[in-house]
Amino acid sequence: MFEARNVSVERGRRTILNGVTASFSPGEVVGLIGPNGAGKSTLLKAMCGEAGMQGSIIVDGRDVKTVKPAELARRRAVLSQHSELNFPLTAFEVVMLGRNPHIVGRERGIDREIVREALELVDATHLSAQLYPTLSGGERQRVQLARVLSQIWEKPPEGSRYLMLDEPTSSLDLAHQHLTLEIARKFAEQQTGVLIVLHDIALATAFCDRVYMLKGGRVHSFGAPRAILTRDSILDVFNFDINRYSNFTALFNDRDA
Ligand code: ADP
Ligand code: MG
Repeated sequence: MFEARNVSVERGRRTILNGVTASFSPGEVVGLIGPNGAGKSTLLKAMCGEAGMQGSIIVDGRDVKTVKPAELARRRAVLSQHSELNFPLTAFEVVMLGRNPHIVGRERGIDREIVREALELVDATHLSAQLYPTLSGGERQRVQLARVLSQIWEKPPEGSRYLMLDEPTSSLDLAHQHLTLEIARKFAEQQTGVLIVLHDIALATAFCDRVYMLKGGRVHSFGAPRAILTRDSILDVFNFDINRYSNFTALFNDRDA
């Protein structure tokens, strides 16, 4: 299990996270939902051990500070919200960066095979040789996803794998949004713990085992998506009334039926 225990973060005079406790376990896809500025990215960064926080981050019962960086890199991969890169690397080379924690000296055949498979999984095989800066926003996002997947592709001897994705679908078309969530589920089936920041309530409902709703730096509620993502809680957290929008009304009517 990967846990944030009573985590608080202050920046300047503002409290950005206020006593947040949250966790995700191998085998599950956990959604992190909340309005812009709620603290979702800050929570992910805190879980990655970024300096300047109170509370603790626990990986399989050990404080993350006591886990060697090399071990952590083989067991936990993070796709941050803004992972830009302006070097003239090909998509293949960008994904190969994810293999760094596994490469001692020169890359091996297995590393190239994994990079190929990761690119195929995200439907980006045809982009392998293209320079990363020339890719479209959605193509870049898929290549970055392939990079973090290649980092935790095989089960490490030390224990479980964890994957954290911060808005991995923000630039993607409908088909690739679903593909991304299917990949998250596939990794969860292979005993990876997945934490994923999402804005799409329908995707969260369809693909997440549990969700946390964050509001103003605190956990507003957590549990099964259908129990948590209700009209009332969405109105409360997002100040958005789904009853006023017919496409949402249809979605929720289906669910309530
Ligand atoms: P989101 O839920 O949209 O991912 P973030 O975690 O990125 O939100 O940010 C939460 C809030 O904290 C935002 O209002 C943001 O402006 C603020 N914030 C984040 N980092 C800093 C910082 N280094 N200095 C000041 N404010 C920050
Ligand atoms: Mg964010």
